[in-house]
Amino acid sequence: MRQDSKAPSDAIVLFDGTNLDAFVNKSWKIVDGAMVVGKKSQQTVQKFKGDLQIHLEFNFPESKKTSQGRNNSGLFLMGRYEVQILDCFKNVTYADGMTGAIYGQQPPQVNACLPQNTWQTYDIIWTAPVFKDGKVVKKAAVTLIHNGVLLQNNTEYKWPSTHKKLNTYKPHAAEAPLKFQDHGNPVKFRNIWVREINKPEPAE
Ligand code: MG
Repeated sequence: MRQDSKAPSDAIVLFDGTNLDAFVNKSWKIVDGAMVVGKKSQQTVQKFKGDLQIHLEFNFPESKKTSQGRNNSGLFLMGRYEVQILDCFKNVTYADGMTGAIYGQQPPQVNACLPQNTWQTYDIIWTAPVFKDGKVVKKAAVTLIHNGVLLQNNTEYKWPSTHKKLNTYKPHAAEAPLKFQDHGNPVKFRNIWVREINKPEPAE
């Protein structure tokens, strides 16, 4: 969980500061070893299946905008289930829109944001939803640690993320990319890696 920590040897490194090969949207540029939000959302070339451990670091540039306008981005697990990224250091906004919120559903347990121009870490354990016969039989869930502080403890998603709307689960592909939100703010990212988590087989 250290900032600038090296990826484990079994991790899939998505961004190490040198190239955007793992990403689709080349309007996002590398500046001083960081990937900066460009035009429209970003997504990984690779699709991921099942549960994941994800590490990423982000850094908010100077901004005096308020509420959701201040350094807004987000990580969408399976391209659908958002973990909010927002500059909430001395910036008040609605609770389920804060940094580390399951956007529109569940506020974070605490606000662990650091000031602008500081590298911050997200360590995420993602549990993918399970569908059977056209219905969700196990909802998606996320555990989120921000700068070493627990914000979400295996919190279930009520539904795929929406803005000011209720929604329902609909079956989708078991493999999906990670998406990063463009909300018009030049948030910086670095040191992004993923581990596909193999579950042990249940005992007979
Ligand atoms: Mg967002």
